Amino acid sequence: MVVAVYPGSFDPATYGHLDIIRRASISFDKVVVGVLHNSAKTPLFSVEERVNILEKAVIDIPNVVVKPFEGLSVNFARENHAQVIVRGLRAVTDFEYELQMAQTNRVLAPDVDTVFLTTSLEYAYLSSTIMKEVALFGGDLSRFAPEEITDALKQKIRKR
Ligand code: ADP
Repeated sequence: MVVAVYPGSFDPATYGHLDIIRRASISFDKVVVGVLHNSAKTPLFSVEERVNILEKAVIDIPNVVVKPFEGLSVNFARENHAQVIVRGLRAVTDFEYELQMAQTNRVLAPDVDTVFLTTSLEYAYLSSTIMKEVALFGGDLSRFAPEEITDALKQKIRKR
């Protein structure tokens, strides 16, 4: 049984993330999505909110679970008995950082491999940051994430 973890901030999740999760769920027996609680960053959504949002979005995929985590992705992988870390690659701008992370993780945990899924073309431009910026200025979010997520985002921005 091949288990993959998919770690990230998911603040909040976009169609780009959901596409990677769906495709990873086809290639691996189980996918554990890891929502990073990073005390050095101030995300818009709390880790609990980000987990809840993702859980609802992947409810129809039986071999996907969503969990919060803190610290190193390789430790999260080991805790979940995962052999693979999945990351999404959008453009060359992602590449340098992702390569460095993958190589570091290989030094830390040679038994865990990083697998990159290239983003689907229609989501190549998309990031949580871009979606939040458009939301801030009242733009149409319907192409970026499912309605439950964009509604939660609009509500969060109104409250600020
Ligand atoms: P991080 O802070 O770890 O980069 P993100 O939530 O921004 O967390 O992204 C998590 C993972 O999802 C990363 O591997 C990132 O490259 C990937 N990703 C983000 N947006 C997209 C997208 N539109 N298409 C494919 N992969 C994406």
